[in-house]
Amino acid sequence: MDVLVQVTHRLNNIRTTYYLNLIETSYSTTEIQRMLHDPLFISEFSECILSLQNEIFLQLTCLDQLGPLTIRDLELENIGPDHNIDNFGHDVSLLSPLTAADLTNPSECCCICLSPWTFTHPPFRITICAHTIGKPCLARWLNSTAHNSNLCPCCRTALCERRARRPKAADPPPAQAVIIGRVEAAFKQLGLCQRLHEELFGAEKGESYVRNAIEELNYRLFEGDVGFYLATDWVRARWGVRRVNWH
Ligand SMILES: [Zn+2]
Ligand SMILES: [Zn+2]
Repeated sequence: MDVLVQVTHRLNNIRTTYYLNLIETSYSTTEIQRMLHDPLFISEFSECILSLQNEIFLQLTCLDQLGPLTIRDLELENIGPDHNIDNFGHDVSLLSPLTAADLTNPSECCCICLSPWTFTHPPFRITICAHTIGKPCLARWLNSTAHNSNLCPCCRTALCERRARRPKAADPPPAQAVIIGRVEAAFKQLGLCQRLHEELFGAEKGESYVRNAIEELNYRLFEGDVGFYLATDWVRARWGVRRVNWH
């Protein structure tokens, strides 16, 4: 059976047994104390933690051997809503039939795609500089991530402020993504261990129990020269994996 599934079963078991016993004994203090010091109960708990430590150690070792996560070429994306093309000018009528001269005259075609005007590629006149450009082409240009996409493509007049851009978040490659998924699932289980421990032994003991388990695991990662360690991500109130060079 999968390690993580097994841990889930064991934790559920601990919880159920504990509460069943409590109900049967009407929550007697002596029964609570007896259970908490029951070697079987304690070993069941530590085996769950050990399984999770082993799983995280194994996965991080694999991740380390796959090499550093490669950040793909820096791709940018615009922040905020797209520009509405109609705020920059107006449509030019296509009612007059196009002549052969129109089709060959450079001023009568779109300076972006060099195609003549059609009903799906209608001419659009920019208010500020009066240049006429294919409407879909201009809309695509204004909302592109090019550094100068706020300028008229014919005369470089600024039509608006450049939209702010940010790097696109790159997805990790598939093999790494599977491993990261396993590590995150194991972290979630550690969180369950902590909560159960808190319910049984009090908040402070639960927290330090899992923190000790993480510290032990960090020591194993250090000894095994695995290029990761575990740290608390206080912002998201959870454990996170960090890159490290132990030398
Ligand atoms: Zn065009
Ligand atoms: Zn222009």
